Amino acid sequence: MDNVLITGANRGIGLELTRQFLAAGQRVFACCRTPEAAVELKLLNDEPLLSIHALDVTADASVAALAGLLGATHLDVLVNNAGIMGGDRQSVDDMDYGAWRDAFEVNTLAPFRLVAALLPMLRQAERPRVVTLSSQMGSLNRKSTGAHAYRSSKAAVNKVMQVLALELEADGIVVCPVHPGWVRTAMGGATAELSAEESAAGLVRLIDSLTPAHSGRFWTWEGKEHPW
Ligand code: NDP
Repeated sequence: MDNVLITGANRGIGLELTRQFLAAGQRVFACCRTPEAAVELKLLNDEPLLSIHALDVTADASVAALAGLLGATHLDVLVNNAGIMGGDRQSVDDMDYGAWRDAFEVNTLAPFRLVAALLPMLRQAERPRVVTLSSQMGSLNRKSTGAHAYRSSKAAVNKVMQVLALELEADGIVVCPVHPGWVRTAMGGATAELSAEESAAGLVRLIDSLTPAHSGRFWTWEGKEHPW
């Protein structure tokens, strides 16, 4: 049985990952900003392998409190899922710089902060894996326009994960950014290609299959390598 920690587990892909890891018999530390408002997550509360934890991924104190709480536990899988778009105004004509900074806080700095805080727990696991929900929108190889805040924050987290993969290689920690597909959630919208169930099923399969040979590479929910 794996111990799996998921950020942003109250809705969207994070909630579905929580459901599917539980269904696969794994223990899930489901983290979200406001557990008392996490209605769908709390519906799973009779699952003996589920625990729900308050976590704002941008707040040092919140991350430190969680790490302190789980300190004696080993962590097999960290899923950095929490993410934001970075506001509605992301064009060269009209940019919300505050929202851009927020996107970096949540999408780029927070996944690093989680790895740093939970490293002692990851080091205790037999097959530790860090999976960060990135996006093909951050790929430098795809020509694209608009969404500067979102794209740049995901491109940056890809680099952060590539560097961490090398740095944590000696600890046997596998580190991969992943593209979950275009998914029907609050972020992806109603016309997206995939259901959260389909995306999460692929991600769970991928996470289960990860080996050191996967580390430091960018993957899709289907287990295909994505160009940087
Ligand atoms: P949603 O918008 O449905 O959910 C985002 C989640 O992130 C929510 O649980 C939200 O919590 C949480 N979150 C945001 N800020 C914080 C914070 N400061 N601390 C803790 N949690 C926070 O997004 P998706 O489920 O669609 O996306 C999940 C991940 O997949 C994201 O990283 C996204 O960028 C990525 N992705 C999604 C795609 C899609 O098509 N949907 C495509 C490519 C990548 P709260 O409810 O409190 O706001």
